Amino acid sequence: MKIIEGTRVSGGIAMALLRAYRPDEIDISKSEPAGALRMDRFEDAVDKLRDRLAILGDKARSETGEKGAAVFEAQKLLLEDARLYGACREQIEGGAGAEQAVSSVFDRAAEELGASGDPYICERSADVISLKDELLRILSGESLSDGLLEPCILVARDLSPARLMELDTSKLLGLVLFEGSPFGHTAILAGSLGIPALVRCGGIDDDTDGRYAVLDADGGRLYIDPDEEVKAAFSAKIAEAGERANEGTDPSKNDGSDRADPDDGAGCRVYANISDLRGAEAALETGAAGIGLFRSEFLYMGRDDEPTEEEQFKAYKTVLERFEGRPVIIRTCDLGADKCPSYLSMPGAENPALGLRGVRFGLKNKEFFKRQLRALLRASAFGNLGIMLPMVTRADEVIRCRELLSEAASELESEGADIGEYKLGVMIETPAAALCADELAHHADFFSIGTNDLIQYTCAADRTSPDAGEYFDPKSPAVLALMEMTVKAAHDHGITVGVCGEMAADLSCTKLLLEMGVDVLSVNPGAIGALRRRIRTD
Ligand code: PEP
Ligand code: MG
Repeated sequence: MKIIEGTRVSGGIAMALLRAYRPDEIDISKSEPAGALRMDRFEDAVDKLRDRLAILGDKARSETGEKGAAVFEAQKLLLEDARLYGACREQIEGGAGAEQAVSSVFDRAAEELGASGDPYICERSADVISLKDELLRILSGESLSDGLLEPCILVARDLSPARLMELDTSKLLGLVLFEGSPFGHTAILAGSLGIPALVRCGGIDDDTDGRYAVLDADGGRLYIDPDEEVKAAFSAKIAEAGERANEGTDPSKNDGSDRADPDDGAGCRVYANISDLRGAEAALETGAAGIGLFRSEFLYMGRDDEPTEEEQFKAYKTVLERFEGRPVIIRTCDLGADKCPSYLSMPGAENPALGLRGVRFGLKNKEFFKRQLRALLRASAFGNLGIMLPMVTRADEVIRCRELLSEAASELESEGADIGEYKLGVMIETPAAALCADELAHHADFFSIGTNDLIQYTCAADRTSPDAGEYFDPKSPAVLALMEMTVKAAHDHGITVGVCGEMAADLSCTKLLLEMGVDVLSVNPGAIGALRRRIRTD
């Protein structure tokens, strides 16, 4: 028996034969017709891919609902992105072949996005690569067919959302990728299709095809040629999970107000983390009780200029209106460190994660920050808004933000704008904030623990570095102690405390978090269903 470890992107257990998926390498060096024909081939491939994405979007809609369809809508938008499309045309006009142009433009874009080191931006890099692969396949004339003849666990280096959706998903019992991104669209799709899936599984031999395996996606393991004991243990778990799923899928229970522990009455709500309007729609599909983290900085990324106050206002207003009075917590932009849009002059630093990041950047660039605060205040008239401050380390930062908010509110009032009520919250994602939680709670209306950064800073383990992976430990006693202090301080002051880092979606931590007494767990929309079921059963 061989055990392979990976990162869980969609929970569950599968027991079946492994099927290796190895698409042929595409030769981009082959000669092709000169002149206008090159452009025609490129345009034709883009048209074909657009049509295919539309068909796959419809298939995803019927199998997973709007969330799955949105993945293909996003891919279509990316395909039409003027920077990618225009750059390919330019290269072809300059004499490059269609394959070379697609390959070099898409690779360069993916490299730039991948270099950011931020998992959410890297997700876009994976999207760019999967579109490139699809375009190259169409250009190569490869015909696509459903390679799944029998129920199986699919093993591949990586898999684009389009490839996944082209398969007969009823036969796809599990998915194991050597690479892949835990934040990528294939992961979201696997989650919405309910397919147990692991990514980043190194160490799989080439000869896995046809071997029997148990995929324990909850535990992040693949057992190849499992022994009888493992098979018996997981058969029992599958039977148990089947019974639980039958109890847990009653839509009438999907009201977002799960009780964490009916015995002592402690309640825990499940909110969604989003970074754009597409995420908000996906969150609505799951019946999320609210938005626990809207990473607003993504409105600022991937563009050549700062989003205007009006643009921001419209985005925030749309989400608030769509959530019809349910809480929507919008984090002020967490720029700096690995998120530095080119149009902002951000100081270079040896160690940017410890530099001018999040609220520090806002307070140093008040006019810039005020444009966002004005947009948020205007949007507050349209729903239940929480404004949340990232990277806080000292109480005076919260006090100064309140002052800026009052200043912005007076300006808006004198301009005749409507302002609603809002809450001001603090992200607890630095050890300093956790250690001062008692003082911070005097100035904050709520807390949300950002475990991604809290773990990084507490364990001195770069969250983006695989080498530091073993030190990045959510269950480290140091991290847990800081979280407990935070929860106590919040409750002593009568404010709520949530967890919005990835730890909230780690089902092996759910019990621990509920026992700690957190009021909200906020996770990516794709993780909401499994978390709900875990809360009901823990
Ligand atoms: C966190 O640090 O846990 C968090 C939610 O913020 P981000 O991942 O965007 O830094
Ligand atoms: Mg953070």
